[in-house]
Amino acid sequence: MPKKKKAARKIYGKIKGQYNQKSIKRRIEALFLDNIGKVLTREQIIKVVTDPETGREPENWHQRLSELRTDEGYTILSWRNKGDLKVQEYLMPHRKKRSSAGKRVRPTDATWLAILKRANYSCEWNEGDEACRLKDGEVDPIGGGRVKLTPDHKNPHSLDPKADPRDPSQWQALCGRHQVTKKNYWDSTTGKINTYAIVQFSPEK
Ligand SMILES: [Zn+2]
Repeated sequence: MPKKKKAARKIYGKIKGQYNQKSIKRRIEALFLDNIGKVLTREQIIKVVTDPETGREPENWHQRLSELRTDEGYTILSWRNKGDLKVQEYLMPHRKKRSSAGKRVRPTDATWLAILKRANYSCEWNEGDEACRLKDGEVDPIGGGRVKLTPDHKNPHSLDPKADPRDPSQWQALCGRHQVTKKNYWDSTTGKINTYAIVQFSPEK
């Protein structure tokens, strides 16, 4: 059978100079903006986010990368949405940001405390019968790094987002790995496909 399309040749990006931005997220952003349309590897990203003084590799860079997509609206493709990319390769096809991104609701401090107590300070993610239950500060045996619980808005398309910051039932505590899983695939309240994530993960023509 003839191949439908000719595979485009992959061009790999380069680390251009020093990235001195204060935050990990801004350094990842700068690296991608320097390499529009080029493939960046996990190793290159880690190189840029590693603290030059301590040589420490941050544990949560993957989450920061995810936030560039979901909160800031950048398109960053991976093997999930672009067939010719390998696992741990990423590509920003253009510097445009989706304007819908960035409006985030957060629980109040009191609500977050109530959520943590309900969760017994552990990740509330459920996969079938299996609950994650990793505790805050524990080492994540799968993802590596220490668990840091953060609030997840169960239904990002809530009808009354103004009420939700005070309603613990609208939130769950998730570890970093499951925040990424959740953002990428599902809306756990409705069980419907999270259109927000699908847009983010649909293949680029
Ligand atoms: Zn978890």
